[in-house]
Amino acid sequence: MIFDALDFDAHEVLHFGHDAATGLKTIIAIHSTHLGPAAGGCRWWTYASDAEAVTDALRLSRGMSYKNAMAGLPMGGGKGVILKFDAAPKTESLLEAFGRTVDSLGGRYVTAEDVGMSDADMTVIARQTRHVSGLPSAAGAAGGNPGPSTAEGIFVGMRAAIAHALGKRDFAGVRVAIQGLGSVGGALAEKLAVAGAVLTLADIDDARARAYAARLGGTAVPVSQIATTDADVFSPNALGAGLDAETIDGLRVAVVAGAANNQLATPTDGARLHARGILYAPDYVINAGGIINVAAEYLGQGDAASVARAIARIEGRLADIFAVAKAENLPTDAVADSMARKLIGR
Ligand code: NAD
Repeated sequence: MIFDALDFDAHEVLHFGHDAATGLKTIIAIHSTHLGPAAGGCRWWTYASDAEAVTDALRLSRGMSYKNAMAGLPMGGGKGVILKFDAAPKTESLLEAFGRTVDSLGGRYVTAEDVGMSDADMTVIARQTRHVSGLPSAAGAAGGNPGPSTAEGIFVGMRAAIAHALGKRDFAGVRVAIQGLGSVGGALAEKLAVAGAVLTLADIDDARARAYAARLGGTAVPVSQIATTDADVFSPNALGAGLDAETIDGLRVAVVAGAANNQLATPTDGARLHARGILYAPDYVINAGGIINVAAEYLGQGDAASVARAIARIEGRLADIFAVAKAENLPTDAVADSMARKLIGR
């Protein structure tokens, strides 16, 4: 069954870990180590079923292979998920048990934070394994919480998208609807506000959206309205798989550019966006800022300044993808996927 599943996509390893003492249930998917150790964060999340957790790990891990390859990193792609449920609270013991699971893979998988995990959690995991990144970093060094680096990548990538789709060189007066104001979405909103964008903001935590709107001068709307907001850009920064036939039909923007992983619900949704004339910034290309930062930390290469230069290159990389997609009249995700597959030898 699993080997034939669409999302299995020739993964090298699908590892199930369980720790009876803490209740830890974790799934680590390693898609490819062709370019180096499989790097990708770990998500702590509530899943409706174990099968849903497996699918999430598989899809996220393939995304990391593509992301790391397209970011020019000597890293493969993998991802961890920890199942969140009442009987297994995120204690230090549980995180240590996860660290031992990561360590048992001998460096084939390198973890970092994703949704639900923090740099403080990585410090606890690091007691049990050295194959961890995203640890708190000293000023000027690479590493630390990847959220701000990811937000910087989204900002420059969105700039490439508005240049291509709208002929705009900067964000002055550009209307951006942001879904999710967490570590990435919040930092992105701040940057866009400074750059003169007009913001519409939504978060399942309404008070959070209102506080951001009051501070940055935007408008807060209910979560149910953000994807149909009349704007120039829709920026998904909550969870993945938000772009399906229904949401795509309802979009009233020229560009989709945000950090959420696996934004396209099915492989045909990229073509759906293309057919509607909406420019889609492939998620794993635009959201690579965080992994560029934590990979530099793990590999011990570079400082904050060289990481910033690498993140800035996301703008040109997306401009290239948009140009090829336009020249060949192809969906942008199809162009990026074929570039990425070539890089990982698939
Ligand atoms: P986060 O947990 O800090 O923030 C997510 C925010 O989205 C929270 O404020 C939450 O309340 C809100 N939210 C959840 N569901 C929502 C919904 N339906 N509508 C509106 N808001 C909703 O997570 P993050 O680190 O900011 O990551 C955001 C997304 O970007 C995730 O999909 C993550 O996988 C992806 N991503 C993050 C990074 C990173 O460096 N943190 C890197 C690459 C990709």
